[in-house]
Amino acid sequence: KEVKKEYTTVDVSGVQFGGEEITVIAGPCAVESEEQIVKSAQYVKAAGAKMLRGGAFKPRTSPYSFQGLGEEGLKYLSQAREETGLPFTTEVVNPRDVDLVYKYTDMFQVGARNIQNFALLTLLGQTDKPVLLKRGMATTIDEFLMAAEYILSEGNKNVVLCERGIRTFETATRNTLDISCIPVVKERSHLPIIIDPSHAAGHWHYVPALSKAAIAVGADGLIVEVHPDPENALSDGAQSLNPDEFIKMMGQIRTVALSV
Ligand code: PEP
Ligand code: MN
Repeated sequence: KEVKKEYTTVDVSGVQFGGEEITVIAGPCAVESEEQIVKSAQYVKAAGAKMLRGGAFKPRTSPYSFQGLGEEGLKYLSQAREETGLPFTTEVVNPRDVDLVYKYTDMFQVGARNIQNFALLTLLGQTDKPVLLKRGMATTIDEFLMAAEYILSEGNKNVVLCERGIRTFETATRNTLDISCIPVVKERSHLPIIIDPSHAAGHWHYVPALSKAAIAVGADGLIVEVHPDPENALSDGAQSLNPDEFIKMMGQIRTVALSV
């Protein structure tokens, strides 16, 4: 794909964002057990993903839903990295957990709900680990880019943006993927930007179509939810691809990537 010389490339433990390759991060919404995350890592690596995802701290809509395994989850993610060589990203929800998550992760993930948690962004800007910054569901592109500035202005230049769908009147999908965000950000910012088709769609069946669109429009990569057994997932099972569907989709996006 097209890479202008003024664009920034972000390196995450040897994996590049913003270079010529389309970089795919994949894995379950949440870490549920050591076996589940290690299996997920093996599946997504075999299919061509370069990084693993998995939440240990989950910002759930309901306080009564599964909230994640916390530090235990971070340990299982590290085990999966050791067994597969895949670096991982995991969400830090609370500023008080930045030091803890730092000890394990290759890349901090900031969730949509924390896009304007400036205390959290400032702290992450003072670390030397890359940050995956997800757009809020009701954040304009200008607000999104200014949130990134909170990290950059503290000295941490390794920010990867992520469009994950915004709230509109439409209810057929969980959110509405703002595909326009990619060309706009490519014009206004030097930062790499990837797309999360899973939280945009809300249903796994729409994920391949949105992924192909993302690549066609110039995204630098994808972050996709993949679960070894989506029907029994503790969170976001409906939007998670099973390993076979993920392999199929990776084949399809390779074809699109060749034409951009
Ligand atoms: C996630 O990636 O699991 C997540 C909670 O996403 P978002 O912050 O985009 O809702
Ligand atoms: Mn999720």
